[in-house]
Amino acid sequence: MSKTVAVIGAGMVGITAATWLQRDGHKVIVLDPGKPGEGTSFGNAGCLNGSSVVPMSMPGTVKNVPRWLLDPMGPLSIRWRYLPMLAPWLIRFVRAGAPERVQAQARALRALLAPSVETLLPLAKAAGVEDLIHRAGHLWVYRSEASFQKDQAAWRLRRDNGVVVTELDADQLRQHEPALSRDFVRGILVEENGHLGNPLRMVQGLAAAVVRNGGRIEQERAVGFGFDGSRLKSIQTERGDFPCDAAVVAAGAWSAPLAKSLGDKVPLETERGYHLMIRDPEVMPRLPVADADAKFVATPMETGLRFAGTVELAGLKAPPDWRRARILLEQGRQLLTGLKGSYPEERISLWMGHRPSMPDSLPCLGPSTRSPDVIYAFGHGHVGMAASPMTGKLVADLVAGRPPSIDVVPFRAGRFA
Ligand SMILES: Cc1cc2nc3c(=O)[nH]c(=O)nc-3n(C[C@H](O)[C@H](O)[C@H](O)COP(=O)(O)OP(=O)(O)OC[C@H]3O[C@@H](n4cnc5c(N)ncnc54)[C@H](O)[C@@H]3O)c2cc1C
Repeated sequence: MSKTVAVIGAGMVGITAATWLQRDGHKVIVLDPGKPGEGTSFGNAGCLNGSSVVPMSMPGTVKNVPRWLLDPMGPLSIRWRYLPMLAPWLIRFVRAGAPERVQAQARALRALLAPSVETLLPLAKAAGVEDLIHRAGHLWVYRSEASFQKDQAAWRLRRDNGVVVTELDADQLRQHEPALSRDFVRGILVEENGHLGNPLRMVQGLAAAVVRNGGRIEQERAVGFGFDGSRLKSIQTERGDFPCDAAVVAAGAWSAPLAKSLGDKVPLETERGYHLMIRDPEVMPRLPVADADAKFVATPMETGLRFAGTVELAGLKAPPDWRRARILLEQGRQLLTGLKGSYPEERISLWMGHRPSMPDSLPCLGPSTRSPDVIYAFGHGHVGMAASPMTGKLVADLVAGRPPSIDVVPFRAGRFA
């Protein structure tokens, strides 16, 4: 049965959901106070990694935290004023790192992520943006045999979940990625992984196709829901009501208040991240390269070379700390030594975005407590670009009342209640 479905949020998740819903014959209206793709989906590293099954909280992660926090170049920072607000999430994060939980989270992530590129390709083709999808693989590099060995639990988890990996020694690394510094002595290549040459243009392209196919995109902020009993009747926005039969909450890191109004108190935090881009760089890697020790990724993009990473726990409101982005240039130069010592400001751009993160690294994907007419699709943390194609497909299954093509029970919003 064809319905009118309101999608709240025009990021990669909301727009892929809108695309799949339209394919089912529904009338789609997307609401967002901003423009499509200009939230977190704008500035990420663009990796479509089916291999990203390793949750952020692993056994032993907590042991590394003091070292990371003490290092000004480290991958993690916390604004101490924010700690009281953060504490409940942190406790759940630590608990999520128990070995048996990690195994279950990895299995759930693999089901969501492995079909990423195959699922996105037909949507991108139909929208005329398939040129943005690259299948060059993803390379992780290590400065020492010791750090390579320290990462083996994560690689075992990936292998156990069907990820095929190729280990590279120093010479093979150089052959595979000639731009890489000679300081790196070990590497792992995952060939199945893909990446986007421009995440923003992907969302914009898909959004334009939604409009071409009769959908509407309105610059409106959703503030609530109108019900008749348990049936959804409308979405309330700051400027009026939008009648609909079903809705999708895909407002990324801003989704928690909407879920709360539907009876679901979800522990959603923002893991803020940064990027620094160099326009017309002297060297460009052939494929995304992750510095496994410094925990950032260098991705070749159509707009330049993008270094993306870092986690900053400081909430949704604190202003960006641009030093976190500039650190990426320093680290990027250590990765790709052909880059210059400094760049004029007009060749550099900086960005900060809000990863929507649940403590167990799994999204919320499924019906709300208040009504089966409202479906959640948020909380994709570090993997929202890769997870969107399948998330959108599952949302369409749930709206249609079809059995979803993978098990969505691990993603239920009430799992922390
Ligand atoms: C530095 C960095 C690197 C990353 N690298 C990768 C990567 O390589 N691969 C990967 O898969 N993921 C990566 N991610 C994660 C990925 O970017 C996110 O998981 C993903 O973009 C989330 O998409 P989204 O659609 O849920 O959120 P968003 O893109 O943030 O979209 C949410 C939208 O909701 C809108 N909104 C908010 N409130 C309301 C409201 N009340 N009403 C209506 N609309 C509302 C916002 O304006 C926004 O447009 C990275 C993230 C960062 C920060």
